[in-house]
Amino acid sequence: SSPVIYVVTPTYKRPEMVAELTRLGQTLTMVQRIHWIVAEDSATCSAPITSLLKRLGLPYTHLATPMPEIYRREKFVPRGVSNRRAALQWVQANGENTGVLFFLDDDNAVDIRLFEEMRSTKTVSMWPVGLIGEYTVSSPIVKEGKVVGFYDGWPAGRKFQVDMAGFAVGVGYMKKQRKVTMPYIAGHEEDGFLKSLNLSISNIEVKADRCTNILVWHTRTAKNPIRTLNMETHQNDNIKV
Ligand code: UDP
Ligand code: MN
Repeated sequence: SSPVIYVVTPTYKRPEMVAELTRLGQTLTMVQRIHWIVAEDSATCSAPITSLLKRLGLPYTHLATPMPEIYRREKFVPRGVSNRRAALQWVQANGENTGVLFFLDDDNAVDIRLFEEMRSTKTVSMWPVGLIGEYTVSSPIVKEGKVVGFYDGWPAGRKFQVDMAGFAVGVGYMKKQRKVTMPYIAGHEEDGFLKSLNLSISNIEVKADRCTNILVWHTRTAKNPIRTLNMETHQNDNIKV
């Protein structure tokens, strides 16, 4: 049977949460051999998300791991790190060695063909991400089938200039590394995580037609401050989060 893809989606309570996860979850039902890890940045699992997960019929794991207060007070908050870390631990403890780990934020848009691209990942594979930053796309630069650099609007001294949705990791490979972690440093989560995997650029597996095909987009949902303020007063079953 084909490798399982562990899709890790960090999420947090706000009015858009149910909408984002419904859209993403329904996309995932179109894909074979998915295990969806919904990792809430919260002390408890939200009831509407539990119901959604049961309804979708996908194999899933629902986790709740709040961000420590000290990070919430930072100028640039490292979003989704506590919950992604919990999911990482879960995959290291329970993931099949033949499986593949993929981080997919709740507001991103994905073409289901991306999953068949990443399914064969042994170490770390990469591909472009659309609608991101000033350059519109972030992508590895590929020469003769190998990654030779990165095209990204925010280099920031990073070794791996990639977005969270721009790579997947072989679970067996990850389990062999000693100190796998994700730093609580805004903007450096991906780079820190990939460095902790002892990855060298020459070992990156190139996907999506030598990184010429965009199959995932860093879309963002507009925030509505009034809606957020009123969140507590919405008593509809799907909004009471
Ligand atoms: N997130 C989270 N806790 C927060 C803020 C965000 O878990 O306090 C999640 C969010 O649901 C998303 C990911 O972390 O899946 C990245 O956050 P966001 O989409 O706000 O970041 P951006 O699109 O600006 O990179
Ligand atoms: Mn986002």
